[in-house]
Amino acid sequence: MGEFELIEQFFKAHSLGAGVLCGIGDDCAVLQVPEGKQLAVSMDTLLADVHFPANADPELIAERALRTNLSDLAAMAAEPLWFTLGLTLPSSDDHWLAGFARGLFKVADQYNITLVGGDTTRGDQLTITIQVHGALEPGSALTRSEASVGDLVCVSGPLGDGAAALAVLQGQLKVGASAFNYFSDRFYKPEPKLAQAQFLSAIANSCLDISDGLMADLNHICQASGVGARVDIDQLPLSEPMLKLVDEPKAHLWALTGGDDYQLCFTLSKTHLGRLQEQAEKGHLEYTVIGEITDGREVECFHNGRKIQLTRTGYNHFS
Ligand code: ADP
Ligand code: MG
Repeated sequence: MGEFELIEQFFKAHSLGAGVLCGIGDDCAVLQVPEGKQLAVSMDTLLADVHFPANADPELIAERALRTNLSDLAAMAAEPLWFTLGLTLPSSDDHWLAGFARGLFKVADQYNITLVGGDTTRGDQLTITIQVHGALEPGSALTRSEASVGDLVCVSGPLGDGAAALAVLQGQLKVGASAFNYFSDRFYKPEPKLAQAQFLSAIANSCLDISDGLMADLNHICQASGVGARVDIDQLPLSEPMLKLVDEPKAHLWALTGGDDYQLCFTLSKTHLGRLQEQAEKGHLEYTVIGEITDGREVECFHNGRKIQLTRTGYNHFS
C-alpha cells in the first residue's frame, strides 16, 4: 500500500472536528482557534525499543503515544483541540496500522482531540511523533516557573508505578495476571490529568507532569522558579500493587527517580489548601502533599525526619 492509500484508509476520515476548516488531504490544515483563547503546543517522539517494545500491540503503542502527549497539555492546564502525527514505518503493514488507528482514535475520541494532519515516511526504525494543540484561557497556563517559597508540593496520584511497570513488562519481575494487567495499563494507558488540571489552574502556582521521575521533574520546577524543595519520603503515595511487588526502599526509590508516571506535580500556596481539599472531596481530583518549596536551590529528601541522599540503588542517611 502506498502512502496516500494508507492515509486515506486509516486516518483521513477522522479529521473532522471543532475548528477544523481544512483537515487531512491538503498541504496544510487550517484551524480556527476558539475566540479569545491562546494556543498551547507540544510535541513528543516515541522510538521503538526506546520508549516502547517494538513488538508491542500497535493499539497500545498508539494509546501510549497520544496519552503521553495529552499529559503535556494537562500539565499546562490546556484543553485538547487538535493533533498531528508523524509516522516512520519500516513497512506498511495493514494489520499493524489498523490496530494503531484503533488505539489512536479510541483515545482521541475519549479526550475530544482531532487528528488534522501529519507525515508518513518509510524508515528502519518505527518512530511516532505527535504534536498536540490545546486551548488556554489567557493567563491561565500552569507553568514551571511560578513556584513560591512556602508553597506546598503535591502530586496527583501514586508514584513509582511507571518504573515498576517497566520491570514487569521487561520480565524482570514475575507477577500474576491481574497485577500484570494493572502495570500494563500504567505503562500503556497513563491517564492525562486534563480535567483535574482545569480545577488546579485557579489555585496552583506551578505544575508539570512527571515523566522523568519526581526528583528530576521537581528539580525543573525549582530551576525555573529559582527556589528549592524538600520532599518527605514518608508521604509519597505508593500503589498497593507496587508495594506487593517490592520492599519499601525499592518502592521509595522508584517513586523518587522512576519515570513514566504521568502524575501532575504542582505547588500551591498553603492558603489554597482548603479549596484543594474541597475539590478533592467533590471527586474532581486527587492529591497528596509531599513537601514544601524552600528558599534553597535544591530538592532535598527527608525520611523519618532525617535528610537522606539518593544513590543509584537506594539512599543513604547523612551521618
Ligand atoms: P505533502 O506532500 O504536502 O507533505 P503529504 O503527502 O505528506 O503532503 O500528506 C498528504 C496529506 O495527508 C496532508 O494533509 C498530511 O497532513 C496528511 N498526512 C500525511 N501523513 C499523515 C499521518 N500519518 N496522519 C495524518 N495525516 C497525515
Ligand atoms: Mg509530507
